[in-house]
Parts: sequence; structure tokens; C-alpha cells
Amino acid sequence: MSAVPPPYASPVREAASAAALTDDERSRILAKSAQFAPPSAVLPDGRRELVGLSREELTEILLEIGEKPFRTKQLWHWIYHQGVTDFSRMSSIAKPLQEKLAERFVVSRPQAATVQTSSDETRKFLFRFRDGQEAETVYIPDRREDRGAVCISSQVGCTLSCTFCHTGTQGLVRNLGAAEIVGQFMAARDSYGEWPSPKGETPRLLSTIVLMGMGEPLYNYENIAKAMKIIMDGEGIGLSRRRITLSTSGVIPMMDQCGDELGINLAISLHAVRDDLRDELVPLNRKYPIADLIAACRRYPAASNARRITFEYIMLRGVNDSEADARELVRLIAGIPAKVNLIPFNPWPGSRFQPSTREQLDRFANIVMDAGFASPIRMPRGRDILAACGQLRTESQRARRQPSPTAVEGA
Ligand code: SAH
Ligand code: SF4
Repeated sequence: MSAVPPPYASPVREAASAAALTDDERSRILAKSAQFAPPSAVLPDGRRELVGLSREELTEILLEIGEKPFRTKQLWHWIYHQGVTDFSRMSSIAKPLQEKLAERFVVSRPQAATVQTSSDETRKFLFRFRDGQEAETVYIPDRREDRGAVCISSQVGCTLSCTFCHTGTQGLVRNLGAAEIVGQFMAARDSYGEWPSPKGETPRLLSTIVLMGMGEPLYNYENIAKAMKIIMDGEGIGLSRRRITLSTSGVIPMMDQCGDELGINLAISLHAVRDDLRDELVPLNRKYPIADLIAACRRYPAASNARRITFEYIMLRGVNDSEADARELVRLIAGIPAKVNLIPFNPWPGSRFQPSTREQLDRFANIVMDAGFASPIRMPRGRDILAACGQLRTESQRARRQPSPTAVEGA
């Protein structure tokens, strides 16, 4: 792609009829997603993982071993409120039952293959799952207060191939299961010792979740939904839906369902305001073009003035960062309760883009702000620890192919 985009005659294509975005399309997406299912939650020794089960599923398997439904509440408390992984520490459960549970079940975490803490306190984890697959999780503390965001991955790799994204070069290996999604958050909390789960509005170090790691969460909707319901459950981790944001490259048919069923905040990876350019940067745009995407944002059920939609816009020098782009952006999103997150491009080896200059970033941000939208510039964090999403996994794969004693450090 050339560095300077050609002039575009019409800013956006006509919106396709909403009828095209039918239930059929949703079913097709869910069926495709099922082909990339995570491995079984049963270990080779026959024990079953309990993390990631819904309350109903937990009750069912307890009934199967002759235990009463009230045990669900008890176990839930130990697993998600106390963060206990060892049945013998579940002190409200009698010893014989602790032993019975330990024979049949496990409560585990993904293994931390790498943990790196940046000089700015950002902590990046590479988690390894039971089948050896790996995904990245990042904790980004707030500089001013005792709180922070956990950036969680939804897939190993990604089917989409956005040209600026390193994960997009990896292809999709598989979806992460609910246990692996919840597990990333729980393992990150282990690392800070933040158990038991703080109640209600008590300050938390790990206070928000952003589904902005590797993968497209709306192409793994069922596992994401199950995991978020567990995380939002008030008797466990109890994180409010207001503190969870899902980032999508624009899988429109799943956006409505996400709003209706989960009511979490939405972030849209917009990155371009004209279809020709967005077709190249975010190839999913060929299927779900800008006008349809913006229409879906306008009807997103959880959006309100208090719950604004975030438009993410990666600033690529000479590609999408002109003042004309900024003006078109504010025209497109006019009337939507929104903020615009300007993301300085984080280069990776072999990437074909350059980050915008600081002056251009400021010029762009000012136009967006003058139109009444908050437009924070997301400062790059953890630059010294391979912060571009997907890079840590690639490094680890390289090291595993050619083992060297220092390439992958233990946690
Ligand atoms: N697939 C989803 C969520 C994961 S990507 C999505 O695309 O929204 C999350 C964010 O990471 C995206 O907004 C993307 O813009 C950003 N991102 C990807 N590669 C990046 C890079 N090299 N530099 C800066 N941000 C990047
Ligand atoms: Fe996938 Fe998001 Fe990267 Fe695009 S930006 S390739 S959708 S992870």
C-alpha cells in the first residue's frame, strides 16, 4: 500500500440493508467459531477443570457425584471470591468431601511461561495453556491511583489480518475457552496477590478488563460471554459490566447480541474513515463497511452518555492521520455518545507503517476535541518489553524452536 492514500470520491459506501445482518449470519459465525474450539476441560488423568463452568454446569456435575446444589455456592465462593486452587484450603468444606473433590476435579490457572515487568510497571504475561498454546495478557497500572486495566486475549492468533497488527500475521490457531479467559484474569491477580476479591466499590488494583489482547473476541463470542458472566457474578470476582470493555474490529452481527446479553462497554477499532482505506487496514471492512458499522454503534444497547462507545484509531504516518481524516471522523460519529482513543502505532519487525509525528497526533486530537469528543492519546506503555500485541508469543515460539537458556525466562 502506498503511504499517501488516494483521494476518495465518496467517503463511505451505502449502508447495506439491516436485513442482511440476520440471525443466519450470526449462526454462521457461531458455527465457524465452534470449529476452533479449545481442548477438552478434562485432564488426561480424568480430573475435570472447574474454572470456567457456569453455576448451572457446576451444579450439574456436583449432582452427578451425589452432592447437593448448595455446594455450588460454596465452591464458587472459594474459587472466585477467595481465589483458592487447593481443595484442602476450602475450610468450610469437610475433609472427606475435600478429598472426594480433589480426586475428581482441579481448579487451576494457565501457566506463566514469561512474566516481564516494564520500567513503567506495565506487566506482560505470556500464558501457556494445557495443550502448549500461548496467549498474552497485559496489566497496565494507573499511574496516579491504585487501580489498573487487564488486557485479555480471546484467541490464539486471529483469523483477521489487519495490516498494522502483529497478531494478524499469525493466523488463527484456536479459540480460548472460558476457563482460559477467566484464567488469564485470575492468574494476573495471583501475581499481585489480590485475593479475596474486593467487594463492591472497594478499590482494586486490577479494576478493569479490556478485551483487547490477541484475537477477535466477537469471533469467539460464546466463550467470551461465558467468561464475562463468571467475572461479573457478584458472589465471586464481581467486576461490574461498566468496568469491562470489548474491542472489536467490527463483527456487526455479534455486536447487538453482546450489548443485549452482556451490556459491557464497546470499543470499535475504526482506524480509517473511508472504506477504500479501511478495506486495506482492516480487511473485515469489505464485509462490514463503515456505514453499517456506525449504524450498529448507534443502536448499541449499552451506549449512553455515561457509557460511551470508544472509537480506537491507530495513527499511521501519512496514511490516516490528516486533518481531513479527523474532520471526517467527527462527522461520522456525530451524535453517538463516544470518545476517540488515538493510538500511536507500535512498530514491529517487518511492519510497513510508521507512527505519526507528535505534532500530527496533536493536530488530529485537537480537531476531535473541538468537536466535543474526549480524545485521549493512549501513550505507549511497556515499550521495553515488546508491547506490540502478538510479539511476545512470536518470540516465545522462536525460542522454543531454537531453545536457548536465556530466551524464555520462567515466571
Ligand atoms: N481484535 C480486536 C481486539 C484486539 S486488537 C480488535 O481489533 O479490536 C486491540 C487493539 O490493538 C486494536 O484496536 C488495534 O488497533 C491495536 N493494535 C494492534 N496492533 C497494534 C500496533 N502495532 N500498535 C498499536 N496498536 C495496535
Ligand atoms: Fe485481529 Fe484485532 Fe489484530 Fe485485527 S487488530 S488482526 S482483528 S487482533
